[in-house]
Amino acid sequence: MARKVLVLGEVRDGSLRNVSFEAVAAGKAVSEGGEVVGVLIGESVNTLAQELIQFGADRVVTVENEKVASYTSDGFSQSLLAVLEAEKAEGLILGHTALGKDLAPKLAAKLQAGLVSDATAIEVAGGNVVFTRPIYSGKAFEKKIFTDSFIFATVRPNNIGVLEKDESRTGNVSSISVDVKDLRTVIKEVVRKATEGVDLSEAKVVVAGGRGVKSEDGFEPLKELASVLGGAVGASRGACDAEYCDYSLQIGQTGKVVTPDLYIACGISGAIQHLAGMSNSKVIVAINKDPEANIFKVADYGIVGDLFEVVPMLTEEFKKLKV
Ligand code: FAD
Repeated sequence: MARKVLVLGEVRDGSLRNVSFEAVAAGKAVSEGGEVVGVLIGESVNTLAQELIQFGADRVVTVENEKVASYTSDGFSQSLLAVLEAEKAEGLILGHTALGKDLAPKLAAKLQAGLVSDATAIEVAGGNVVFTRPIYSGKAFEKKIFTDSFIFATVRPNNIGVLEKDESRTGNVSSISVDVKDLRTVIKEVVRKATEGVDLSEAKVVVAGGRGVKSEDGFEPLKELASVLGGAVGASRGACDAEYCDYSLQIGQTGKVVTPDLYIACGISGAIQHLAGMSNSKVIVAINKDPEANIFKVADYGIVGDLFEVVPMLTEEFKKLKV
């Protein structure tokens, strides 16, 4: 059944996050040949509309308002509900990011709609749009369909994939004015933690360190490897608790969930809570001194050895490949 689907483009530091393009691809699948309408909320966001179209949106609706220049759940939910109402859309897709995790349940409650959160795959089978999502910390997957006509989902970054960018694609960009009011929170200032390099949640390569790195300085070889591979550095909670790195790097049940193409675990034992955040990575390489370490059970490639010897060797070899 062809339907009109709205997809929220998520803007960070003036650019669209990659998960926005995955959401467009998801919207395309959910629309079943209908229309995919990108939505951009913020200040001066219309300059980004063309990029959403090039990645597959048919057209874009913007809500330009200084009151939504920074994300608040009140401001964004009012804006998105206004667009849904104006467009009479039958579906909505957001990224399963910090923003999406905050916004989607609130919208679902307001719309009295069902929500499939954290979808990792979408297919159309037997006349239904079927969503796959991990459960029990990624140890199993469930498939869900909507019995209602309205389809609402958040998609996990790095799983759905993006459609091929077509720079010749064009589409209409319109704006609607929303009377954003009664905000219960107002963002006065955004102070970013100084994070270097690639965004961990969306990185294609993650080099993660555990308590085995032994100190803050012990992360240096991992940072170098990540930089050579164009990836991001992550960590186990063990490393965060030991104050070797910031908690923003923590991967796992109580940290970030990542699904990169390549995950290199260095000096991480592989506790179940850590696996919950990375076991769905496409290729897992584990480096650990202990051949019995649990991480080897989920690893595609295991290297038994001292990470301070192995990681620099890998860095040197990857550098050679780049020349
Ligand atoms: P360790 O278990 O101490 O492992 C260190 C590993 O490094 C060992 O396997 C050792 O053989 C290896 N090693 C040491 N030196 C070297 C070397 N030179 N070269 C190579 N290998 C070396 N953990 C998370 O990661 N993420 C979470 O989100 C999370 N949430 C949790 C939530 C709850 C409610 C609880 C109870 C726990 C949670 N944990 C989480 C903690 C988790 O149980 C583990 O304690 C933690 O993951 C262990 O971190 P680690 O593997 O770095 O440390």
